[in-house]
Amino acid sequence: MSEKKPTPLVSRPSGKVCPVCGDRAYSQGGIHPQCAVRQADAARADALKAARKLEVAEAKPSTWRVKKCPKCKKQSHVRCKTCDCGHVYF
Ligand SMILES: [Zn+2]
Ligand SMILES: [Zn+2]
Repeated sequence: MSEKKPTPLVSRPSGKVCPVCGDRAYSQGGIHPQCAVRQADAARADALKAARKLEVAEAKPSTWRVKKCPKCKKQSHVRCKTCDCGHVYF
């Protein structure tokens, strides 16, 4: 009778760790297929968020939509005909 214990396969320090969930992943690439999908979704959501942020920034009134009053230096919308200070634009 031998006392030698069989080494359980699960304790072998092999295999990669999934970068998404931190669990061991034995699949190709070292990432769970469902985690890869989640990661891709997160990247897409980030890109979407960034694009939306850029859109909002572009929607903000830019300098060509405002004009500066020569009297009080206050900015008014380009379509305003008179400034608050009483200055009349041409
Ligand atoms: Zn995973
Ligand atoms: Zn003014």
